[in-house]
Amino acid sequence: MNKRYYSLNTYFKGIYGRRVRKICIDAGFTCPNRDGKLSQKGCIFCDEKGSGADDISRKLPVWEQVNKYLETKARDNEYYLVYFQPFTNTYANIKILETLYKSVFLDKRIIGLSIGTRPDCLDEDKLMLIAEISGGREVWLELGLQSSNDRTLKRVNRGHNKEDFEKAVVASNKAGIKVCAHIILGLPGETPADYANTADFISSLPVKGLKIHHLYIAKNTEIERLYTGKEISLISKDTYIQEAASFLERTRPDIVIHRLMGDCRKERLVAPEWTLQKSEIVRDINKELAARNSWQGKKTRMAIVPRGTI
Ligand code: SF4
Repeated sequence: MNKRYYSLNTYFKGIYGRRVRKICIDAGFTCPNRDGKLSQKGCIFCDEKGSGADDISRKLPVWEQVNKYLETKARDNEYYLVYFQPFTNTYANIKILETLYKSVFLDKRIIGLSIGTRPDCLDEDKLMLIAEISGGREVWLELGLQSSNDRTLKRVNRGHNKEDFEKAVVASNKAGIKVCAHIILGLPGETPADYANTADFISSLPVKGLKIHHLYIAKNTEIERLYTGKEISLISKDTYIQEAASFLERTRPDIVIHRLMGDCRKERLVAPEWTLQKSEIVRDINKELAARNSWQGKKTRMAIVPRGTI
């Protein structure tokens, strides 16, 4: 079945004519929401081990992590983006960042970077550095929002608000950097009206990419305590499929969909079990759009030129 949303694979194939994969690396960063600058607790869902970095080692220099991947997994007919993923990958001084980011271009198959960070950990110098690296390369800044409801952001201890996110997106766009927004469906207290507001907010900004995640419970998190104490309940698989489809309907059609499910390693996962059925659920979200005779952007509510682009 054809995809009813603008997938990352479609975007990459259209530009490069081939598959582009991500090499996830761990540059050893921490986060101001964990190291005490803002808080020591972190977001209530934050996995202390960091996200996505399953077979990588914080002990290796980043270039060595990339080299290891190139030697063991890379193919000649693919391109790669190096993904600075766990924790806050702009949380260091500019010299350290410059050395780290530039050290990974070891091979012509590495065409760019993805840099995961928080909206309150960017400044003009960092944006200028990222913009300079973007010249002629494929660079994405991955910015966590999670929800556009400030009450929810407070409840999950994000340590920033909706306005911080908007300012970071507008400044990044002005610097010529592509932003991929991250959101979560199923956060405590959120309703379909919150999801709709978040989708409309994202579509009103010069965001170029989107990751939609479901809320899952990882071990040793504050949210695990709330879940085991029955203080919160989780979004069901069927509701998630419905709500993710509805979110896509309100998302601007030019926004590239990087992801439609959260990812948690089996050994770190508490619940829900369907977290491990990723391809099936992504397929079912597309099927849900087909059953509605719908597609990404069908219900986008705002003018197609987002704020901050002109
Ligand atoms: S901003 Fe990211 S790394 Fe920092 S506490 Fe929240 S989820 Fe964890």
